[in-house]
Amino acid sequence: MKYLITGGAGFIGSHLVSNIIDSAEKIIVIDNLITGNMSNIDEFKKNKNFEFVKHDIQYHFDPKENIDYVIHLASCASPVAYSENPINTLKSGSIGTINALGIARKYNSKFLLTSTSEVYGDPKESPQSESYWGNVNPVGPRSMYDESKRFAEAATQAYITEYSVNASIVRIFNTYGPNMQLDDGRVVTNFIVQALGNEDITIYGNGQQTRSFSYIEDTVSGLLKALYYKKPDIFNIGNDNEITILELAKIILKLTNSKSKIVNNPLPKDDPMQRRPDLTKSQSILGYKTQIDLEEGLVKTINWVKQTRG
Ligand code: UDP
Repeated sequence: MKYLITGGAGFIGSHLVSNIIDSAEKIIVIDNLITGNMSNIDEFKKNKNFEFVKHDIQYHFDPKENIDYVIHLASCASPVAYSENPINTLKSGSIGTINALGIARKYNSKFLLTSTSEVYGDPKESPQSESYWGNVNPVGPRSMYDESKRFAEAATQAYITEYSVNASIVRIFNTYGPNMQLDDGRVVTNFIVQALGNEDITIYGNGQQTRSFSYIEDTVSGLLKALYYKKPDIFNIGNDNEITILELAKIILKLTNSKSKIVNNPLPKDDPMQRRPDLTKSQSILGYKTQIDLEEGLVKTINWVKQTRG
């Protein structure tokens, strides 16, 4: 099978490649390297079935060969990265998604859109199921990401309806693990780096906001199940173990034996107060099941951060 993966040099993309490289006939990764990193995919370059193209999917791309699966991951995804690159983020989700869908249409490929729990915004219901429409501020500080992914979902749905493209949408909830960018401001990496350096742990607000953290290998297993699912559909993928950010800080302090103090910084505007996936649909239709609990995943991530920073 031949795969085309936009954003394949990023955090999630690189793990996806790692999972399929041995069985794939060919993998073409295209990435503009804004947040992707060649070091994430260096190990794959020795495989003759692997090809890397530095390209931004907001511009036309034609692989000029039959592709069985198109996976569209390309996007800035952390609050820091998408605030620094608002227009590029909007273009990856809009024009980029249209271009990626065009490839799937031309080559009759199965298409997977990686959307996000951010389409639910600051949710008014919890847990969030796929049928919830969300609560998003269209001009807020997170809107470039939320709205680009909402557009991407609408575009995918339109290609399903008008051109019969076989496409699935996955809404990915907070995912962590090796190959994350250490300086992109996300909470798991921020807290680990701070704890290992015995620096202050910066909780934004009072730490009572919640997230549900999924280890990368669990998330990737869900993406692959959705990719290989035969019919167009939409699935939440993540872990439904919901904790407060204060609890997360305490777990990381314990696992690192850190002397760091917890400090409270201002809560960013429109920061969602709760987030927890309803996984009923992905569990029953895809057989999706998480395997790695939070402490186990955090230990793996802490060890990777230690190795990476020497
Ligand atoms: N957060 C925090 N301290 C940090 C970084 C993030 O308290 O140093 C909070 C942030 O305000 C949010 C949560 O942790 O409530 C998750 O933030 P992240 O940027 O990782 O992801 P997202 O907000 O997109 O879920």
